[in-house]
Amino acid sequence: MNDKMEEECGVFGVFGSSGDETANLIYSGLLALQHRGQESAGISIQTGEKIITRKSMGLASEAFKAVNPETLTGTSGVGHVRYSTSGDKSLTNAQPLVGHCKLGDLAIAHNGNLVNADIIRSLMEDGGTVFQTTSDSEILLNLISRGASSGSYDKAIREAASAVKGSYSTIILTEDRLAAVRDPYGIRPLCIGKLGDIYIVSSETCALDAVGADFVRDIEPGELVFIDKNGIHSEITGKGSEQNTCLFEYIYFARPDSVIDGISVYRFRYQSGMELYNEHPVKADVVVGVPDSGLAAALGYAAASGIPFTHGLIKNKYSGRSFIAPSKHLREQTVNVKLNVLKEEVNGKRVILIDDSLVRGTTSKKLIKSLRKAGAEEVHLGIVSPPVTHSCYFGIDTPYRTELIAAGKSTEEICQLIGADSLFYISPEGVLKSTGKEKGFCMGCFNGIYPMSYS
Ligand code: SF4
Repeated sequence: MNDKMEEECGVFGVFGSSGDETANLIYSGLLALQHRGQESAGISIQTGEKIITRKSMGLASEAFKAVNPETLTGTSGVGHVRYSTSGDKSLTNAQPLVGHCKLGDLAIAHNGNLVNADIIRSLMEDGGTVFQTTSDSEILLNLISRGASSGSYDKAIREAASAVKGSYSTIILTEDRLAAVRDPYGIRPLCIGKLGDIYIVSSETCALDAVGADFVRDIEPGELVFIDKNGIHSEITGKGSEQNTCLFEYIYFARPDSVIDGISVYRFRYQSGMELYNEHPVKADVVVGVPDSGLAAALGYAAASGIPFTHGLIKNKYSGRSFIAPSKHLREQTVNVKLNVLKEEVNGKRVILIDDSLVRGTTSKKLIKSLRKAGAEEVHLGIVSPPVTHSCYFGIDTPYRTELIAAGKSTEEICQLIGADSLFYISPEGVLKSTGKEKGFCMGCFNGIYPMSYS
């Protein structure tokens, strides 16, 4: 049972490349976006005659090991890495999802969660639509293919986007173009890059860097972008909605080397560490960050406080995924397999441990125990997000509210439960200040205020 909110999905699209490099570009992009989903990976390529797709369960490096690149030749394509928040974890639900409509083949790669999926699915089934998967993304695919009977993808995609509600950063591959759409609240990120004459669309800028592309711009909330041989044209589909980008993208999900909507994820995390110190100055000998997402904030806390930063915890890069059914003993040991304490750095010291979030609290409890066992005299836990008290409905896998440690307990009670000497969270104001903006973020899992109703 993971003690973090789980990532969602990553999408990556290419238009206008030479036939034999498209699949390689997408593959490299997916490797860079792997942190957004490790359950399955897939690539769809437009060959000019049809769309061919290869997808498999597991990491991108595993999924395409046996694929002959010569079977994936075409000038445009789309890729996806998945973590399931809707539908089961089967290969059937792996993306891209592909369909055939009046205008030809189309493939879709979706990051997000449609909150009105059940209603639309039921209405479409009443009308005779057959669904092949249990994924909410197929609703988008079917809405677009149904709308394409009018003879226009533009209209079909526009109408599909206005029918669904929730979060959707989506790339659609058709015969002669790539379309990209971001929901009106811009909950998940999506950006455009260019590599020579090749257009790239990606969940995060780190994947543009991975293929050597230059960042062009973010896709705006509610923007629908079409890329074809004439270049880019775009329109705004969701007017009147206020931007509500997921704040957790910055806190934990996105890679620190990404920049989302003009905010560097690394700088945000560093700044949030500084803000945490301003709000909670604690006396100690060393500051330790929980790898990887707590490291930048720990550096910020150390810089603001003047307390030395040290790598007190070392992450095993090869620990892989958790056991399917671990024994109690193995479950206890799991944190040691993933993270080990550098005893020399903490022995006899007062430690400030910085983590990005506290979800169930199980990992923090084990880490604090391990630090004490290694000789730490005091362990103070600083969290650079406000208490997580509510679930997410927009593409993030959160535990049930009852499993969220902060949902029913006071900070003092949690501190006692996890065995820390003190526990302190950044305030909602502090975390917002770290973005450098005054508004524009969903903070639903901290305050229960969501950008839209979720039922
Ligand atoms: S509820 Fe939390 S995790 Fe979900 S979109 Fe909002 S900030 Fe992100």
